[in-house]
Amino acid sequence: MQRTYGNQMHPYECILKCPANWMRLVSGGPLENPYRLKQFHFHWGMNNDWGSEHTVDSKVFPAEVHLVHWNCSRYRTFEEAIMEENGLAVIGVFLKVGRHHSKLQKLVDILPSVRYRVNLLAYFTNNIKRQCMQLLLTRQMCEWDSLTEFNYFDPSCFLPTCNDYWTYAGSLTTPPLTESVTWIIMKKPIEVDHSQLAVFRSLLYSAVGEEEKNMVDNFRPLQPLMNRTVHSTFQPALKLSDFKKDDAKSQHQQKV
Ligand SMILES: [Zn+2]
Repeated sequence: MQRTYGNQMHPYECILKCPANWMRLVSGGPLENPYRLKQFHFHWGMNNDWGSEHTVDSKVFPAEVHLVHWNCSRYRTFEEAIMEENGLAVIGVFLKVGRHHSKLQKLVDILPSVRYRVNLLAYFTNNIKRQCMQLLLTRQMCEWDSLTEFNYFDPSCFLPTCNDYWTYAGSLTTPPLTESVTWIIMKKPIEVDHSQLAVFRSLLYSAVGEEEKNMVDNFRPLQPLMNRTVHSTFQPALKLSDFKKDDAKSQHQQKV
């Protein structure tokens, strides 16, 4: 049973699940209906040269957080929405190295407690017993999970102060890879410091006693655009460059 469950999950994510009764909605922009937050998770690289799943003009970021919402107006459950058009809305925010992110630190502080993978069945048993209304931190693994609990955490702290974003209709980057996602990629990254990223990189794929294998590079490689149209809420920046003879030639030819 555990294996079946695991196969439906992407093995390389760090996921924060929201309790069933926790309501956080996103609406507006490209979304016709309110979408409800289901979970958020991170992708990161083994160093600062890569890690994000999106790039901007070929620029890659060391990490990217995804806030996964589902269309609770149109569909009854997350599982139903995930398979359908306009079922999900994922807000992606880039993380870049810079200043310490004090609100993220609350999450970073508990990551060492889920450094190893542990028994998934024990996690669910404990969860049911406690009737837990808190946010549960789980590491989704093939067959196993690791868990801790912590008090209310506000994921809106991941949003940059600038509201500009790109949006396009695309797919999940993890199985079942369905074309059900309205992607909203925030233009401005948020800053985290080296030590915070280092804690993410210290998570392990391994259980206690196994050979230690760091959980890094848990991102899907860049995919072709495939005729998708990417819209932005802002005008592209003007680019200034040196005037070349070839430019003059082509301008002349256009006039003729
Ligand atoms: Zn993701």
